Amino acid sequence: MQGLIMDYQLTIPAILRRAEQLFGDREIVSRQPDRSIQRYTYGDCIRRARKLGVALKSLGVGRGDRVATLCWNHYRHLEAYYGIPSSGAVVHTLNLRLHPDDLAYVANHAGDTVVIVDKVLLGLLEKFRERAPFKHVIVAGDGSDVPDGMLDYEVLLSSVQNSDDESPEIDERAAAVMCYTSGTTGRPKGVLYSHRAIALHTLASALTMTLDIREADTVLAVVPMFHANAWGLPFTCAMVGAKQVCPGPHLDPKSLLELFESERVTISAGVPTIWLGLLQALDAEPRKYDLSAMRKLIVGGAAVPESMIRGFQERHGLSIVHAWGMTEMAPLGTVANLSSDMAKESKDTQYALRAKQGLPAPFVEIRARGEDGLVEWNGNSMGELEVRGPWVANGYYDASDSGDRFTEDGWFKTGDIVSIDAKGFVEIRDRAKDLIKSGGEWISSVALENALMGHPAVAEAAVVAAPHPKWQECPVAVVVLKSGQSARPEDLTTHLAQSFPRWWLPHTIEMVAEIPRTSAGKVQKSALRERFKGWTATDDPKAD
Ligand code: AMP
Repeated sequence: MQGLIMDYQLTIPAILRRAEQLFGDREIVSRQPDRSIQRYTYGDCIRRARKLGVALKSLGVGRGDRVATLCWNHYRHLEAYYGIPSSGAVVHTLNLRLHPDDLAYVANHAGDTVVIVDKVLLGLLEKFRERAPFKHVIVAGDGSDVPDGMLDYEVLLSSVQNSDDESPEIDERAAAVMCYTSGTTGRPKGVLYSHRAIALHTLASALTMTLDIREADTVLAVVPMFHANAWGLPFTCAMVGAKQVCPGPHLDPKSLLELFESERVTISAGVPTIWLGLLQALDAEPRKYDLSAMRKLIVGGAAVPESMIRGFQERHGLSIVHAWGMTEMAPLGTVANLSSDMAKESKDTQYALRAKQGLPAPFVEIRARGEDGLVEWNGNSMGELEVRGPWVANGYYDASDSGDRFTEDGWFKTGDIVSIDAKGFVEIRDRAKDLIKSGGEWISSVALENALMGHPAVAEAAVVAAPHPKWQECPVAVVVLKSGQSARPEDLTTHLAQSFPRWWLPHTIEMVAEIPRTSAGKVQKSALRERFKGWTATDDPKAD
C-alpha cells in the first residue's frame, strides 16, 4: 500500500519561494573588487535571479543546458546559483584556480554554452576562451569596457521586462548544479547534483547536529562558490533566512577580519589554510578586531590540526567546528560536534575529538573496508571509508570509466582511510594514496603532520612517502616555521619521538618557505613526492 502524501518536488525553486516569502528583507552583502560594499536583500536577489533565467532562455539556453560561472563569491554569483537551476538549466561553477588547459578541458567536457565571468577575471578567460565551447560570454562587473562580442550582465537583466510567471515545473531528479573534482589524480571529473540532492543536503546542513545554521546568523563563506557549492551554504542560508556576506576576491586575513567585525559575522567557513593565516594575524594583533559576534568557524576540506583548534579557542575564544566532505557528496559528510557524553570528557579529550571528523550527517551511511572486509567500529581498525546517501554521486558525468569508485552494492569509495569508533565517530587517518607503507605496516601522514604542527615553532607541515631500499617507503617531512621562530630538524624529531615509535619518524625534515598547494588550497602531495623522488634513505629504523 502506498502512503497518501503529496508528491511534492524537492527543488531549488522551493527553497527560493520560502526565502522570498519569509525572509525577503534579509540582507546579502558583497565586497566588490574595488573593495566597495554592495547591499541588497533576498527579495532583490531572487527577483534578479528569475530575470537571469528568462534572459538566458532568450539566449537559447534550454532545460539541462550547462551555464558556466567563472566568478568569485558575490551577489551576482548567488543570482546565477539561484536563477540558472530555477530556469531548468544547470549551473556549472568553474574553478578559477585551475590551469587554463584544465579549464578548457572542463568547459568542453561539460558542454558549457554560456559563461558568466567576473570582469576582473576576463584575463583568465582569454587564456582558454578560444578552446572553450561558449556561444555567449556574459560579463559581470560595473558595466564599463565590456569587450566587443560579449554581453553585459546588467544590460542583459534590464532587457527582461516581466519574469513573474517564468519558473517552470522542475522534476526533483533533474540536474541542477555541476562541479568538477579538483583532479589531484588524472583529469577533473564532473559531479552532477540533482535538485533533490541539493534540497535534502540543504535541510540536513542546517540541523543542530551538523552545521547548525539559523535565521539569526550572518554567514560569510570564505570557501569559494566554485568549491563543492561553497559547502551548500548559499542554499542553506536561503532556506533558514540567514544573512549572507560575500567577500569577493579579497581573501587576505585583514580583509576578512574587517568584514567579520563590520558585518557582525556569526559563522564563517573555509579550508584550514585560510584559518592558519587568520590565526597568525590574530596572534600578531590579538585585540585589534571585535569578533564577539562570531559563533563558530566551520573548517573542512583538509584535516584541521588540534593545535589550530586550541589556538583559536584558547587565545581568541573562537570555536572551530571540524567537518569532512567531498565534491562527490555535495559536499557534507561528517561533522565533529560533541555529543552530550563527549562534552563531559576532559578538555584534552574534547580537543582530540574535535580534531577528528565526527559523526555522519543524517542520511549519510558509512562503513569502512580493510583488506579482509568491513572493519569493526572500534576506533582502531583502519579501512577505506565507503558512503551512501541521497546526495552522494552514483557516477561521474559522461565518464566511461568511473575509476573503480563504486562498490558492487552501490556505495561510493571515498579513498579516505579511516577508523570509526563504537559511537560512529570517524577519524580520517589518511588519503589512501597518501598513506605511507613501511613494509606491510601503515604510517599515517596526517598524524605526523598534526604532531609537527603541535610544535610551537611550526606553522605548517606536510609528510609524504619517499622510497626506502628495504621498507619500500618511509616518511619524510617539509616544514614551514612561524616567522621569528627557529627549530632544527633534530628538535622536531625529538618532539615527535614523544608520541611515535622510531620507525614512524621522518627520515629527513626539510625547512621550506612554502608548501605547494592544489587549486583547492590543499597540500599538493604529488609535488612533494616528486621532490623526494631521487632522495634515498640510508638508515633503517626497524633494525634495532
Ligand atoms: P574535495 O572533493 O576536493 O573536497 O576533496 C575531498 C577530500 O578532501 C576528502 O576525500 C578528504 O581526503 C579531504 N578532506 C575533506 N575534509 C577533510 C577533513 N575534515 N579532514 C581530512 N580530510 C578532509
